[in-house]
Amino acid sequence: MNIATGSILNMAPAGHDWVVAFDEGDETLPATVCPVVGWATVIEAHLNDGTATTCVQPAFLYVDMVWTPNELREHNPAVSGFEIRAREITPPVTKVEIVEPGGQEDDATEARVFHRATGWTINPEHGVETCTSNFYRQQDGRPACTDTAVWKVVQECGYGLSIGFYCGDDLPAEYSGARELRA
Ligand SMILES: [Zn+2]
Repeated sequence: MNIATGSILNMAPAGHDWVVAFDEGDETLPATVCPVVGWATVIEAHLNDGTATTCVQPAFLYVDMVWTPNELREHNPAVSGFEIRAREITPPVTKVEIVEPGGQEDDATEARVFHRATGWTINPEHGVETCTSNFYRQQDGRPACTDTAVWKVVQECGYGLSIGFYCGDDLPAEYSGARELRA
């Protein structure tokens, strides 16, 4: 069996955690970043005894087609510097301290505000948590919020911890400092 170097023997699907970055030949432009959709077993080289070596390469989506680095290099010899990277990690935890009107900094309640672009799942059976503002929206007769609740606010209160989830628009004003910390 004679299979050309660079041929894909098989492919395993990739999770959502990886991207591939590369230069398209113009160093003044930022690297192009494409999602990895699979891990391809690729013929790497043919040995004198007729056997072949393989390697695993990322298969990635670029301009509506799936490519391996080998294929894209053949198509556009200017591309270089392929690098597999973890997809952007959720930004680090932000911390906001709340001082009640008339209160002192000392008796600030500590609120921890977390951001996750895809929302939060506390109980897998529940699915993604919905916007806590719905509690008030329902009382006020406003339509329910269907936006992704990207913010999680954990705050100490008299009886323990309160946890709320909010979309970008409904994040209460007292936590808006978290937005700036994140920016
Ligand atoms: Zn909302």
